[in-house]
Amino acid sequence: MQSVNPYTGETIRTYPSESDEQVDQRIRAADRAFRDWRQTPFAERARLMHSAAAVLRDRKRELADLMADEMGKVLRDGVSEIEKCASCCDFYANNAPAFLANQHVDSDAANSYVAFDPLGVILAVMPWNFPFWQVFRFAAPSLMAGNVAVLKHASNVSGCALAIQEIFQQAGFAQSVFGTLLVESARVEKIIHHPLVRAVTLTGSTPAGRSVAGIAGSELKKTVLELGGSDAYVVLEDADLGLAVRTCAQSRLINAGQSCIAAKRFIVVSALYGQFVQRYVEEFNAICCGDPKDGETDIGPLARHDLRDGVHGQVQKSVQQGARLLAGGQIPAGRSACYPATVLADVKPGMAAFDEEIFGPVAAIIEAPGEQQAVALANQSQYGLGAAVFTGDAARADRIARDIEAGSVFVNAFVKSDARLPFGGVKHSGYGRELSSFGIREFVNIKTVWHGAVS
Ligand code: NAP
Repeated sequence: MQSVNPYTGETIRTYPSESDEQVDQRIRAADRAFRDWRQTPFAERARLMHSAAAVLRDRKRELADLMADEMGKVLRDGVSEIEKCASCCDFYANNAPAFLANQHVDSDAANSYVAFDPLGVILAVMPWNFPFWQVFRFAAPSLMAGNVAVLKHASNVSGCALAIQEIFQQAGFAQSVFGTLLVESARVEKIIHHPLVRAVTLTGSTPAGRSVAGIAGSELKKTVLELGGSDAYVVLEDADLGLAVRTCAQSRLINAGQSCIAAKRFIVVSALYGQFVQRYVEEFNAICCGDPKDGETDIGPLARHDLRDGVHGQVQKSVQQGARLLAGGQIPAGRSACYPATVLADVKPGMAAFDEEIFGPVAAIIEAPGEQQAVALANQSQYGLGAAVFTGDAARADRIARDIEAGSVFVNAFVKSDARLPFGGVKHSGYGRELSSFGIREFVNIKTVWHGAVS
């Protein structure tokens, strides 16, 4: 497995993948660690999780540098990502005891309650786009619940994967409570079949989710899937146009457009369409792709050259299908995997930019005659991860929010993840939830305990 700097094109390091025997030993060690970890009191788990937060904060600049090298994230975004991971560790350290406290239930029993027991070894298959955040938002709640974890990270961010393992060890966690396995995706099937792996979480593309869910299903192992998205942002005639344009542009450019919840389709009612398109193009024309380590850079390169070429192919296909290219759309000269901020207008169902997820800085702007058609177009997608509505009428926003098929709907704001709120999707964006009290209960045995009357 190779880490290649997507800005310079240079190979940073090659990592040998672990043998089947090594993987088996690592999973067995994790299962042994589970026996102690599940008995460790919440207070001690919380102490260690706060310590992980402290390590993250201490090392944030170095870790941001590593992300810039391995997948092109601009440094300031990398620092924010690490700070967010630290906050997530603190959040679950503080709240896990309450989220997982026994729940008394009145019944015919002398005493009955629900307890939340850990499951054991959880396999996490994770993507490169937020190499730390995606892992920590799974690991912090899962470890606090008493589970142990083995991570199979994306093959292009092995340095980040090893750093995460090191962070938990530096924080004082026992050796195998969290472990990184360096293996390619073709090896995941065998790991899922391992009898000591109890459940699987995958964040990644819909095809990867489909494959992992099928294998786990054959073993009757639970899965949580956080998959792709094509979030629709609906802009209505009573919206604050300046706010809508700024927010829509900002959201499309998060992480150079490589975010599952980056806005991807902008559905604008006819009354505002022309003005929206013009102002949006102005915003995108001011964006420069460049060195992720330069403080002036707006967006860094895409994470890999093959991914950049894929994005460009989707843009070209959309133009052939009738979309109007109004900004960007050309691969720049040089060795970097940069792709310019690109605007496609007059996008319609049936075009690649409408039907597919474009994982790069490419905006698809779509015209709708009015609210009803705009909502129908938002829902005309295989995905259902996030969505946003721009309107000056809060009651209207609430009504539309309930009609949109997505795991979250934000009003006059861009979609983001927050440890306090559940995160996940419907349709081909996956199932299950991460974060909040919902996320920590995904990988637990929800156990009924019943006491009969004792005479
Ligand atoms: P990806 O190709 O699906 O890879 C994600 C992870 O799955 C990597 O570790 C990859 O390993 C592994 N993988 C790929 N195919 C697999 C298979 N058939 N069986 C088992 N494992 C497999 O996705 P990506 O390109 O890295 O990430 C982008 C995608 O992730 C986008 O669709 C994005 O929307 C989605 N995503 C979703 C969320 C969310 O929360 N919903 C968050 C972030 C990203 P290798 O690297 O070794 O191939």
